[in-house]
Amino acid sequence: MKLNVKLLRKGIMGLSIACASLIMLGTGPVEAKGPVPAVKTEVKQTSLTEARINAVLKEAYEKFKNDQGGKNADYIKALAEVDSKIFGITLVTPNGKVYEIGDTKAEVSIQSISKVFTAAKVMQEKGAKFMQEKIGVNATGLPFNSIMAIELHKGSASNPFVNAGAIQSTSWVKAKDSKERWAKIKQNMDDFAGKKLNFNKAVYDSEVNDNKRNQAISKLLDAYGRMGSDPLEATTVYTKQCSVNISSHDLGVMAATLANHGVNPETGKKVLDKPLVPKLLAIMATAGLYDNAGDWLYLAGAPAKSGVGGGILAVVPGKMGIGVVSPPLDPYGNSVRGQKAAAYIIDKLGINPLAQ
Ligand code: GLN
Repeated sequence: MKLNVKLLRKGIMGLSIACASLIMLGTGPVEAKGPVPAVKTEVKQTSLTEARINAVLKEAYEKFKNDQGGKNADYIKALAEVDSKIFGITLVTPNGKVYEIGDTKAEVSIQSISKVFTAAKVMQEKGAKFMQEKIGVNATGLPFNSIMAIELHKGSASNPFVNAGAIQSTSWVKAKDSKERWAKIKQNMDDFAGKKLNFNKAVYDSEVNDNKRNQAISKLLDAYGRMGSDPLEATTVYTKQCSVNISSHDLGVMAATLANHGVNPETGKKVLDKPLVPKLLAIMATAGLYDNAGDWLYLAGAPAKSGVGGGILAVVPGKMGIGVVSPPLDPYGNSVRGQKAAAYIIDKLGINPLAQ
C-alpha cells in the first residue's frame, strides 16, 4: 500500500512536470504567465518596429531638409565646391536591415571620420594600451588642428581624432613603406564599409598642396619622439585617407559594423576584435565631435564622429548604426543637419545608450 502511494506520488509529479514542459513548449513566451524578462523584451522590440523606424526617419528628413544652418568647409578649396544641398540619412541595424532616405548615394570625402578606422587598425595591431599610452584618449578642449594642444599636453596628441593623433595613428600602422601603409588603411576602411570605396582625387589634390599646418603638426610630434614613421610621409598618407569618398549609406554600414561589435553586418567579416569596440567608442564619445563632443553627448548620448566633408556617423551599440551626409558645418566642423537628424532619430526611437 505504502509503495503504491509513493508510486502514485511519483506518477503525479512526473505528469505535472511533463504538462508544465508541454505548456511552456506549446505556448512560448507570449502566453506564458508571469515571466517578466519575456514581457520586457517584447516591449523593447515593439518600440523598434520597421514602421516606427521608417516613420521617425521620414520625420527627421522632413524636419531638417530645409535647414539652412552652417556652411561648407572652405579651408580645403575642393570642399567649398560640394553641393551643400546633399542630405542623406541611412540607418543600419546590427543584422543588416537598412532604412534610408534622401541622397543616400551622394558621395562626399570622409575626412576626419577616417580617423576612427585608422585608430581601430592601430588598436587591432598594437592593442588598447598602446593607443592610450602613445597617442592618448583625452579631449583636448581645443580645435581639431590645434598646435597649441600638443604643446599644452607636453607633446602628447591627446587622442586619435584630432589631426595630431590621427597623423600619429597613421604613422603607427605596421608597414614596410608608405605605399603598403596606405593600402592597409584603405583596405580596412573598405572592410568596414563592405565595399571598395572610391578615391576623390580632386579633394586629395586640393588638400595635399595646402596641408602645411598638418605637416607642421607631424614634425612637432616627431620632435617629441611620438611618430611611428617619417612625419611628412605619414601626413601624405593621412591626407589620402581623408580623401576617400563615402555616402550616408556607406557611413551607415560602417557605423553598424561598430554597433555589431566589430563584425560587418553585410559581409559577416570581423574587422575589429569585440573587446576593442567599446574602447574605440569611448574615444568617440570623448572627442568624436571635436571640442563640442561634450555638448553632443549631452544631447544624444551616443558615440559619434564627424568630418569636415559633411559626414557624421553615430553608433548605438547593439541597436543601430547611423550615417548622415550634409556638407554645411557648424563652427566646430560638424555637419549641422547631420547632428540634428541623428540626435532626433536617437531620441524619438528611444535608443539613447545612456538612457537604457
Ligand atoms: N583632412 C582634414 C584636415 O586634416 C580633416 C579635418 C576634419 O575632418 N576635421 O584638416
